[in-house]
Amino acid sequence: MELYASSITDLQKRLHSREVSAVEAATSVLDRIAQVEETINAYITLDRDQTLTQAEAADRQLADHSGGALCGIPIAVKDVLCTEGMRTTCGSKILNSFIPPYDATVVEKLKTAGAVIIGKASMDEFAMGSANENCAYGTPKNPWATNHICGGSSGGSAAAVAADECIASLGSDTGGSIRQPASHCGVVGLKPTYGRVSRFGLVAFASSLDQVGPLTKNVSDCAIMMNAICGHDPRDSTSLKQEVPDFTTALKNDLKGMTIGIPEEYFAEGLDPEVEKAVRNGITTLEEAGAKTISVSLPHTKYGVAAYYLIAPAEASSNLARFDGVRYGLRDTSADTLQEMYCKSRSQGFGDEVKRRIIIGTYALSSGYYDAYYKKASQVRTLIIEDYKNAFGQCDLLASPVTPTPAWALGAKSDDPLSAYLSDALTIPNNLAGLPGMSVPCGFSAAGLPIGLQLQGPHLAEEKLLRAAFNLEQRLGLSERKPNLT
Ligand code: GLN
Repeated sequence: MELYASSITDLQKRLHSREVSAVEAATSVLDRIAQVEETINAYITLDRDQTLTQAEAADRQLADHSGGALCGIPIAVKDVLCTEGMRTTCGSKILNSFIPPYDATVVEKLKTAGAVIIGKASMDEFAMGSANENCAYGTPKNPWATNHICGGSSGGSAAAVAADECIASLGSDTGGSIRQPASHCGVVGLKPTYGRVSRFGLVAFASSLDQVGPLTKNVSDCAIMMNAICGHDPRDSTSLKQEVPDFTTALKNDLKGMTIGIPEEYFAEGLDPEVEKAVRNGITTLEEAGAKTISVSLPHTKYGVAAYYLIAPAEASSNLARFDGVRYGLRDTSADTLQEMYCKSRSQGFGDEVKRRIIIGTYALSSGYYDAYYKKASQVRTLIIEDYKNAFGQCDLLASPVTPTPAWALGAKSDDPLSAYLSDALTIPNNLAGLPGMSVPCGFSAAGLPIGLQLQGPHLAEEKLLRAAFNLEQRLGLSERKPNLT
């Protein structure tokens, strides 16, 4: 097997035994990128020299046994996370030349663990989208079918893992942006409990929903990444003061004593039959591993999309006010007045979807409309939280589809934002409640497109999620399957 195709677990062993060097691993991944990136377009920014310099440093640490758990592992980072000295665009023209003076806490943590940051993965502009087609730097393609979307907004992070253009990656999830592309690209993606991973240095989209998490080739790798990135951060006021367990110890080989709820609302009209079949087969597999399954109801699920598409744009309209042409990135120099400069810089710098969200959000928060829209949406949010509380009174986890359909063809929903919004129906409620959620591969459509199974748990139930995901993966044996990209 080529080095670039390794999981973290494999590569870690070979690096620590000095069978291969970190420079060899990084070179293998860089060569793979050179081979497939023209087709996949998973990255916005790559820096071969910086990558090799980091790999050389990792080799020195491996030689004197001072390296951390990720020492020498090439990792891609979604371009919404600040990286010191490396351009951070958020997929937007407005940040075309922004080079952060500091690292996001998660990036700092990866570096402390010895990871080699290989580049900045593509994304929908400011993480707004479900197809990665709202990116000022082109659209990444699904490695399993390159005329299909890879999902969004962390599309580059998912495609890079699936195409072996990195060993693992980081994404962010505000309404499904880790789980949905993971599902579409056939990789593992985990959105942690809100507050479990620091948001310091994550460029904010909707601050009450955003969370950073890993995308990996298998469940063990996901646990290793969680060990590296979780933990309290005094620089993020919403960060939880919570011990970080060793998540790898959760990967036990049965599900005895676990009750898994099957939410009936997630199998509603509009669910693609191939998705339903693969997910139901996954659920049977969880039962074979020893889990008991019961049917549960989350009656307010159907209001999630409407509430989210008010709350998220409202928060975004406020967060994105900082991109004014004064402090960061693009500035129009032809304007005569300050007001005109703001207006022209933002008009040129933001893409259509971002403008749409700013307009919706500003409207929803404006005086006279606040009660009718934002306040109502917040009340719906409370009802969704109550639904989950009731469900988790009866079961440990929930199992369901991640998305109603497999990945759609490129361009199929570009002119119809509402239909893209509706495709988020099964991932959004989780963010509104701040819960951990995960996508694990559970099958393929007849056309060869991957299908994920979603696991959700109560706050801080990541270990249970990982355990269930691990059992599914072991029994289905899908993690060795790779797209054919030659
Ligand atoms: N697709 C959703 C949106 O467009 C979710 C995005 C995300 O999780 N960042 O807002």
